Amino acid sequence: MLNSIQKKVGIIYFTLIISFNFSSEYKCDYCKKNIIGKYYFLEQKKYHEECYNQNIVPKCNFCKESLLGRYVVNEDGNYHNDCYKNNILPKCSVCIRPLEKEYNYDAWDNKYHGYHSNGKGNCSSCSRIISERTTNGGYIHIDGRAICNFCNKDIVNTKLEIEDSRKRVLLLLEEIGFQSLSNEIPIILKNRNELSLLMPHSSMISGLTNLEHSYKENYLGQISDEKKEYEIFILDKLNPVDFDSILAHEYLHVWLYENNLNYNSQITEGFCNLARAYIYQKNLDKYSIIQLNKMNEDPDLDYGLGYRIANLCLDNYGWNEIIKLFENNKAHNCF
Ligand SMILES: [Zn+2]
Ligand SMILES: [Zn+2]
Ligand SMILES: [Zn+2]
Ligand SMILES: [Zn+2]
Ligand SMILES: [Zn+2]
Repeated sequence: MLNSIQKKVGIIYFTLIISFNFSSEYKCDYCKKNIIGKYYFLEQKKYHEECYNQNIVPKCNFCKESLLGRYVVNEDGNYHNDCYKNNILPKCSVCIRPLEKEYNYDAWDNKYHGYHSNGKGNCSSCSRIISERTTNGGYIHIDGRAICNFCNKDIVNTKLEIEDSRKRVLLLLEEIGFQSLSNEIPIILKNRNELSLLMPHSSMISGLTNLEHSYKENYLGQISDEKKEYEIFILDKLNPVDFDSILAHEYLHVWLYENNLNYNSQITEGFCNLARAYIYQKNLDKYSIIQLNKMNEDPDLDYGLGYRIANLCLDNYGWNEIIKLFENNKAHNCF
């Protein structure tokens, strides 16, 4: 007679031995009376069948029925294998089957089997795992970005949508002290491959501001007919809040150019990213908070670290003062 308990990923293999006895030496470990005939043997103890079934047998924490044979133990109690699988284990957001061992989750608390990442993967904007259930599906854009259908339904695509974004952005930038930014700068949509061609070595580029600076110089070195012409390129297929935030970043480049401020790339990108973060802070929905977290964790020396240094500076000085610092070529006070 043996009883064996094996633990295996939260499942107990529990063997109850049912046996028979015809002498009068055995006593029930529950009622202390003699056992004649059928008895249960478990963990070195013997029980009458009824004593066992009514008093000893563990009950399923879900269905409250007796647990016989193999069952599952977790910190909340004991469960039938099926009760546990179907009612207690978390369900995959993609295929609704139970998640038994390790699983992945996205920023929206979608839990899913790791192998679903082999499909379209996570949305390049909102980071949700793309599937019919989690995002209504999605697609892979020509430049390789995965775009979910939640994000896709609002993407900024038309001239009108671009101008609406420009209006929102210029208004917000004006509120914090960036005045007289031109609303006539062309804004051109490009996919990431096209943007990377314009700016080699930056594979994750989302926006770019191009300046064409022309002027005449006479023999005394005096400048005349100075003209600055800009073009802003923004990644296509972006949802409005991302589009606004990248446009705000690019408009700060314009502001730096207009004021002839030539800082190193860490100061420049860190500063421009303050405007990007400002757009997210103004929205402050779950999506924006996720984007702000990404900025706070970005390991890039310019866009990540530069931004965090600039942000500390903003906390210390406020927008008015930081704008003055930058205008007076004193941004190094912060960096
Ligand atoms: Zn008994
Ligand atoms: Zn049960
Ligand atoms: Zn699944
Ligand atoms: Zn998305
Ligand atoms: Zn930039």
